[in-house]
Amino acid sequence: MVYPPSDPSQLVDALEQQLLATWKRERLFARVTEATRYGPPFIFYEGPPTANGRPGIHHVFSRTIKDLVCRYHTMLGQGVTRIAGWDTHGLPVEIEVEKQLKISGKKEIEAYGVERFNRLCRESVFKYKADWEALSDRIGYWLDYEHPYVTYSNPYIETVWWLLKRLHEKALLYRGHKVLPYCPRCGTALSSHEVAQGYETVQTNSVYVTFPLADDAKRQLVIWTTTPWTLLANVAVAVHPDLEYGEWEVDGVRYIAAARRAADVHVHGKPLAQAQRVASYPGRDLVGQKYLRPLEVVPLPPDGQRAVVVAGAFVTAEEGTGLVHMAPAFGADDYAAGQQYGLAFVNPVAPDGTFQGTRWPEIEGKLVTDKETNRLIIERLKHEGRWVETRPYTHSYPFCWRCDSALIYYARSSWFVRTTAVKVRMLEVNREVAWHPPEVGTGRFGEWLENNVDWALSRDRYWGTPLNVWECDAEREHREVIGSYDELGQRWGKALPDDFDPHKPSIDGYTWSCRQCGGTMRRVPEVIDAWFDSGSMPYAQWHYPFEHQADFKAHFPADFICEGVDQTRGWFYSLLAIGVTGFDAQVYRHVIVNEHVLDAQGQKMSKSRGNVVDPGAVLQEHGADAVRLYLLSQSQVWLPKRFDQRQIPEVAGGFLNTLRSTYDFFRRYAQDWQPLAEADATPPGQRPAADRWLLARLDEVVTSVRQAWSAYDVTAGVRAIMDFVGEDLSRWYVRRNRPRFWAPDRATDPIAL
Ligand SMILES: [Zn+2]
Ligand SMILES: [Zn+2]
Repeated sequence: MVYPPSDPSQLVDALEQQLLATWKRERLFARVTEATRYGPPFIFYEGPPTANGRPGIHHVFSRTIKDLVCRYHTMLGQGVTRIAGWDTHGLPVEIEVEKQLKISGKKEIEAYGVERFNRLCRESVFKYKADWEALSDRIGYWLDYEHPYVTYSNPYIETVWWLLKRLHEKALLYRGHKVLPYCPRCGTALSSHEVAQGYETVQTNSVYVTFPLADDAKRQLVIWTTTPWTLLANVAVAVHPDLEYGEWEVDGVRYIAAARRAADVHVHGKPLAQAQRVASYPGRDLVGQKYLRPLEVVPLPPDGQRAVVVAGAFVTAEEGTGLVHMAPAFGADDYAAGQQYGLAFVNPVAPDGTFQGTRWPEIEGKLVTDKETNRLIIERLKHEGRWVETRPYTHSYPFCWRCDSALIYYARSSWFVRTTAVKVRMLEVNREVAWHPPEVGTGRFGEWLENNVDWALSRDRYWGTPLNVWECDAEREHREVIGSYDELGQRWGKALPDDFDPHKPSIDGYTWSCRQCGGTMRRVPEVIDAWFDSGSMPYAQWHYPFEHQADFKAHFPADFICEGVDQTRGWFYSLLAIGVTGFDAQVYRHVIVNEHVLDAQGQKMSKSRGNVVDPGAVLQEHGADAVRLYLLSQSQVWLPKRFDQRQIPEVAGGFLNTLRSTYDFFRRYAQDWQPLAEADATPPGQRPAADRWLLARLDEVVTSVRQAWSAYDVTAGVRAIMDFVGEDLSRWYVRRNRPRFWAPDRATDPIAL
């Protein structure tokens, strides 16, 4: 047998490219898949990336883990499913197209034309598909890119419709009016799992404001708000009925606040607590008092209570003044109190986040979250004699995870999946999942499920799976949820055209007359959250139940998934929520959660910091083997990882060089050596102690690698191999036994080889 020499002058990139070319020529992936097809199944689900952005080094990280686990199970003879997938709908795509067209916001999209806009979205989805495939190829991540699932495809959408109809039939899909986190730029509400991804610590100007009581303007309620713009829509003040309140007199004015807050509320620069206290009583004594609203620039509707103190159990004395200003259009507690007490509902903010319909020309048309808006409002409060203090306030505030705009809480009509109805079951199912590390399942993810709120499903956008609900234009409650294209054709009264497209705007042309009243059934305008698309992949990748029923059943649930820790509120959640609401089923058995890849200094990588690592360049310089080894072995995959290129040769290079020189050593003496058949080999008992020791060590390593990898501890297995090669094989065995292989005056020890 001839063992090819390794060429130390050959660049690692060239060497690996050569090997990849050989794999390709040999159709290795296809042949391995073929050879293990009937092995015991090992089901892997690929979390679909969005291919309209370039892959980053963190993608190399999770892909390396996925590949290692799948490869290991292939080596055990299992039939591993490795279907690629692409996430193709949603805001990320729309925002890229808006940038490309140099337009922004829904008005401009509609002026441009939804049909043209969506066509561009469809075209842009695969902008970097080739980059993704090339990267996967380069790092040896085996995935079937020839038969991927694509979330915008007609069959995929049909399955999603079927799932939504199933939820509708279980009364788990509903339209609600709720105050939701809302992105004024994107013009759409976001779900709680999306919001959770975009918190940043910011400093804003909070403000203390007085509301004089209507029957005695010398007695003034002091309220505190971090969002002064909501004061324009103020209709009530909430107090806790059982909390102790007091009045403190300063310059003839009596300021009212919770007793426990008096030390922290400043009037003319001095804490109230230092002024003379002239009254104290429980909050319930204030309930029903009328006050004078600040900033009377928005016309109030004729109905509903206004400028009144109400009781609220949510009020605490933890911060602020213990008196909470209420604007039902802009807060969940506020909205609930509005319903409970019949408060007037006033919303001077248009869907694009600007003030509309006010009697205040300077503020009309201004974005509520702009600093300038805040400044104008504080000016005016001072002018009206309502301002007490402005105080910088550092807090965690949500921003749009896609466009970075500050979110606002905004009353909208929206469609929900009633996930709270199955919360207990979701927690049970989660307890059956083996999380690696376990603390993600009990901690981050478990807590997320504990605090579950209904899934805000609909998006007031364009490029997405259209919500498959048709409503009668005469009576909204005459409603049909369409669960297949056949059903749509039946309702419509004709076969669907060959070039049928379920997207907006063409889908909205499908109308029919209401069976109950003769009105016209029209689709609701919303599309759905793209996370629902990706969470539907176990079913939709097979176009279940319309096709491939057996394939679906054979591939459900997954044995293994792996994604970054940010997916606890993304894909991990949407998979589980759909599995439990739709099928009362577990969707995945094992999850490896890899932590973020940080830069060498431990900073988050971001375009604005300019510290983003280009995976292509790193792979070219160090080679995929070294990068993969570095990522897997440097620290546990579920610890935050500092990516320091200078460390790659240190961590991985030593091992790879040792392996290479050990191979060279072997090759030099093994030129015409043929391995003996097992039966003809020297029995272990007759071999020298060193050989027996090495074989025993090898056996131990095989056992510990199997144990580690079967338990999804990828790092422990990789380290066991690295230790074996570096220490036992090279440092001990090869060095100590050198004379047996090489001696100019005698033949080599035949047993050694
Ligand atoms: Zn946005
Ligand atoms: Zn009707």
